[in-house]
Amino acid sequence: MPTFSQILYETPEPNIARIVLNRPQARNAQDTRMLYELNDALDFAAQDDEIKVIIVAANGPHFSSGHDLREKAPRETQKEFRTVTTWGGFDGDGAEAQFAREQEIYLGFCERWRNLPKPTMVEVQGRVIAGGVMLVWPFDIVIASEDATFQDNTVAMGICGAEFFNHPYELGVRKAKEMLFTSDEVSAADALRLGAVNHVVPREELESFTLAMARRIAAKNLFSLKITKMAVNAAEDNAGRASTNQTAFALHHMLHTHFKLTSGLPIDPEFMASFASRKA
Ligand code: ZN
Repeated sequence: MPTFSQILYETPEPNIARIVLNRPQARNAQDTRMLYELNDALDFAAQDDEIKVIIVAANGPHFSSGHDLREKAPRETQKEFRTVTTWGGFDGDGAEAQFAREQEIYLGFCERWRNLPKPTMVEVQGRVIAGGVMLVWPFDIVIASEDATFQDNTVAMGICGAEFFNHPYELGVRKAKEMLFTSDEVSAADALRLGAVNHVVPREELESFTLAMARRIAAKNLFSLKITKMAVNAAEDNAGRASTNQTAFALHHMLHTHFKLTSGLPIDPEFMASFASRKA
């Protein structure tokens, strides 16, 4: 079992793993360490043949506020972990280092997690912002509390959407455009209506409701569950889901490069100035 500092790894019942984001003081902002620990924990649960269902959850009032824009020395932290893609070039010049890093820890991780063979579930409360949706969309079953909201405000930062660009497949094309163009939040009720979440429950029932469903899934044959997941995932992949993500990722990096060329920052400097003036 790897050791973790930003997440918790629990086995609440036989055959069920529960991985909890545990930076509530930072609204579970994703720093490099948390993403690698989450990836390690998901691998650990996937490789344990006793585990049949994996739940991802988050401590605190909000599920995740997205990438940690205040992180110090992310490249140094990344070097402490074994990379999971074969990109390399993490210290490269020009556009290379950021492309390599985001290919690894954002798009790369999310594709890995989405394709983990076992059934995965995620329980979501409070605000889910920008990169936060990256920690929701890859998982198979989404249970949201009534107060959950989903927002990708990266267009306000000058960027065309978070690195894992599954929004059109989760919300439908029209709502995905509205969410991105306006930077508005999508309510749990709207997400349910659009099929982006499976169930909406009162906050106090979020954990127990999710665990009860996990228990019913865990009663099934694991090999059959794995094959069933492959079959359903093929429906989206045969409709171009993965290549849509790769196209959007390339466009996302064109905009990072645009802002670096024009201002030296990877996002709109006006957004960064307003972000920097906010309290931590
Ligand atoms: Zn990016």
